[in-house]
Amino acid sequence: MAHRGKAKPAVPRLRFPLTEKELRRLFDPKTWSRARDYVGAFESPEMAPREIRGDVTGNYGTYTAILRRVGNELECACSCPAANDMDCKHAAALGLTYLHDPGSFKDIPKTNRTEVRALADVSKFLKGTSLDALVEELRARGITQKQVVEILGINSGLFGSAKRLEKRGRRYGFLNACKLACAYLLEVVEQEGRPD
Ligand SMILES: [Zn+2]
Repeated sequence: MAHRGKAKPAVPRLRFPLTEKELRRLFDPKTWSRARDYVGAFESPEMAPREIRGDVTGNYGTYTAILRRVGNELECACSCPAANDMDCKHAAALGLTYLHDPGSFKDIPKTNRTEVRALADVSKFLKGTSLDALVEELRARGITQKQVVEILGINSGLFGSAKRLEKRGRRYGFLNACKLACAYLLEVVEQEGRPD
């Protein structure tokens, strides 16, 4: 991994750290130039500490583009039919939009599982949490994804693809049911571990 210099940043620190140089490395030059058309075209772009996302109208529909940090690496994803992520002008444009106008990105409303007190909180919880994060939380408590699908009687292929597709900005109805089921399992595991 390249060592990053400690040069003083010329711009105020971004809440989702990103540089144009780093962004440019993710895309081929042709995609990069086509991205210009979509800069600033995102509807209600959102951010979390390790992710920015936004919906944009493309040639064949509305797509969700995502940039996220995995460790120190920057990853992109999009629900559009681009052959691969390097070819996605929407993800490139999302990053450029953020660099030009970080203030246009609103925080993704996040409700923790333990803060869900009313029915109205449930959809906020579902929106602010990924299936992947819930599976990781279960794994940290010693429950593997294989065990999860066995306990729930869910087809493991469908569960796995719901999780993968969400990472690419695609949400299916089945996804939220999986999330709720995982949240319930976490509740049970926590109760088991709690002394009377
Ligand atoms: Zn795209």
